[in-house]
Amino acid sequence: RAIIQGKNLCKTYSTGTEQFHAIRNLDIDVYEGDFTVIMGNSGSGKSTLLYMLSGLDSVTVGEVYFQGKRIDKYSERQLAAFRTRQIGYIYQSINLVPDLTLFENIALPGYIAGQPKNKVKSAVHSLMNAMAISEQKNRLPSQTSGGQQQRAAIARALINSPDLIFADEPTGSLNYDHGVAVLDILTEMNRKGQSVVMVTHDIKAACRADRLVVIRDGKIVDTLEFDKFDHSQ
Ligand code: ADP
Ligand code: ADP
Repeated sequence: RAIIQGKNLCKTYSTGTEQFHAIRNLDIDVYEGDFTVIMGNSGSGKSTLLYMLSGLDSVTVGEVYFQGKRIDKYSERQLAAFRTRQIGYIYQSINLVPDLTLFENIALPGYIAGQPKNKVKSAVHSLMNAMAISEQKNRLPSQTSGGQQQRAAIARALINSPDLIFADEPTGSLNYDHGVAVLDILTEMNRKGQSVVMVTHDIKAACRADRLVVIRDGKIVDTLEFDKFDHSQ
């Protein structure tokens, strides 16, 4: 069963008189419970696709369905609720709120979603622990390393236990060990039933896929299915 579907998606960027077709008549089904990885050259349209599937950007043509509901027709208010409660998005650039501590940054979507304070706090503690950033909880982002900020941004995307996690190059700025730790967390989330869609260039990240989708010039050129690996060994 598909958790998210894109049908005949097109995205055209206009700059002055120039038009650029970043995504061209693309169909994609993301299955519930799958760990889907999207690979492709720089500029092939991966981020654009993720933005459209997650309601962060409009479609030029086409339809996006989340659990059967057409989200590309949602109002701003419906989209905001969808993004806060149903999906988690790990951005390529980190974009934490600079005036909030790491703890407060991670807690924020929990409070916005109206979760009880105690529940949010204990979830923040356990995520910070898993990400090995507990010692930095009272620091501002500017007082932490890039890797710590990236891990905080990942924790923030997971705070509301979303059904679907989008991750755009989540290991791109991390050293090997921190990258593996992040992949282990995403794999664990996936094993507990959360669906993951990840864009990556990182071969060790791609190995976590159940389905690998290859995109070139705004089109899917290959889809590979894998048996679930057992990463606990
Ligand atoms: P990827 O994530 O695979 O590197 P992107 O989705 O970021 O690719 O970009 C796909 C293409 O669309 C690129 O050629 C890029 O230059 C172009 N593009 C992306 N965003 C914009 C924009 N806001 N305006 C114009 N062109 C854009
Ligand atoms: P990471 O792999 O997490 O990016 P680094 O090798 O960049 O780690 O940093 C090593 C250590 O130095 C980190 O554990 C962090 O606590 C500390 N550190 C790095 N940058 C800063 C900074 N701007 N302010 C405070 N501490 C920092």
